[in-house]
Amino acid sequence: MCVDLIIGNDGAFSSVRQQMMKDTLLNYEQTYIPHGYMELYIPPNSSGQFNMDVNYLHIWPRNEFMMIALPNQDKSFTATLFMPFDIFNGISTGEEAMVFFREKFQDSIPLIGEEAIKETFRKNKALPMVSIKCSPYHFGGKTVIMGDAAHAMVPFYGQGMNAGFEDCIVFNDKLNEFNNDFDAALKAYTEYRKPDAQAINDLAMYNYIEMRKSVNSKMFLLRKKLDNFLYKLFPNSWIPLYTMVSFSRTRYHECIKRREWQDQMLTKSLNVGCVVLAMSFVVFGRHMLMKQGSFLMNLTEDLTGNFKSMFGGWVQQ
Ligand SMILES: Cc1cc2nc3c(=O)[nH]c(=O)nc-3n(C[C@H](O)[C@H](O)[C@H](O)COP(=O)(O)OP(=O)(O)OC[C@H]3O[C@@H](n4cnc5c(N)ncnc54)[C@H](O)[C@@H]3O)c2cc1C
Repeated sequence: MCVDLIIGNDGAFSSVRQQMMKDTLLNYEQTYIPHGYMELYIPPNSSGQFNMDVNYLHIWPRNEFMMIALPNQDKSFTATLFMPFDIFNGISTGEEAMVFFREKFQDSIPLIGEEAIKETFRKNKALPMVSIKCSPYHFGGKTVIMGDAAHAMVPFYGQGMNAGFEDCIVFNDKLNEFNNDFDAALKAYTEYRKPDAQAINDLAMYNYIEMRKSVNSKMFLLRKKLDNFLYKLFPNSWIPLYTMVSFSRTRYHECIKRREWQDQMLTKSLNVGCVVLAMSFVVFGRHMLMKQGSFLMNLTEDLTGNFKSMFGGWVQQ
């Protein structure tokens, strides 16, 4: 069979990619994280409405693991428990699942339901998550891989599918730019897309820690508040990283660069602030010392005067 172009959109364990690896110098890196995931279902409440506030990403952060819940259009939520396989493997019965939930996610039990939790753990196995980086994404002018086949990522930025759709836009742009010359367009596609695909892969891995752990830190929350405050003041120049990644077409690698610039600006401002504060202390301290110094001089003079009047000229000046 002869075809013009093969587009491999066949997921993280792509057969097209495997074939390309045999025929081209394709670099490949695959990382399994030690966590697996299991989905649980939160039905609508008895009035058919959402069981929790709908406009939020609900997170139960527990440092080493976490559960999140996202709303569905039918007013239910899908909760996903992300946890090390070691802990999943230690839960083998419905009752053990309940002991775990009572200890770690007590408030979610009425939302999911005791029977549903037991059933989910009895029937399902935790699934693995893999992060894949490879390059190039093309083979001559004949084959190209996109989506998870090219850049499967851990799901903590919610960008996997989005990045796949963005691949299509970029690919279409390159076809237009090179007048449907596949050789040139596919090469340009890899060159343009690689830094972005690898950046979102790294960001997703970073969020893996942020969501389950950093959100418990006061410093992290303070930084979030500061970011949002500056975003309100300068909506065009200070855009928080998450907003840039999720709600703009700013290229992923550009988002990381801008965030680094923001970090540098904050560090510089903090340093300048510390210097100003230290100088204020010095000036204020000096002022107080001088004030106290003149008070001490007056006090000494008063005491000397009193001694003089008591003991005549006996006290030496
Ligand atoms: C727990 C979890 C949560 C996620 N949450 C989000 C989210 O909130 N937002 C988001 O954007 N992304 C999310 N993702 C990522 C998203 O699901 C994937 O990035 C997306 O599905 C990738 O699409 P794809 O078409 O590249 O691959 P896939 O969805 O894997 O589709 C590949 C298709 O190719 C088929 N296939 C495979 N091999 C062959 C073959 N040899 N022949 C024929 N067909 C084949 C498969 O059957 C499948 O239908 C999440 C992923 C996980 C695991």
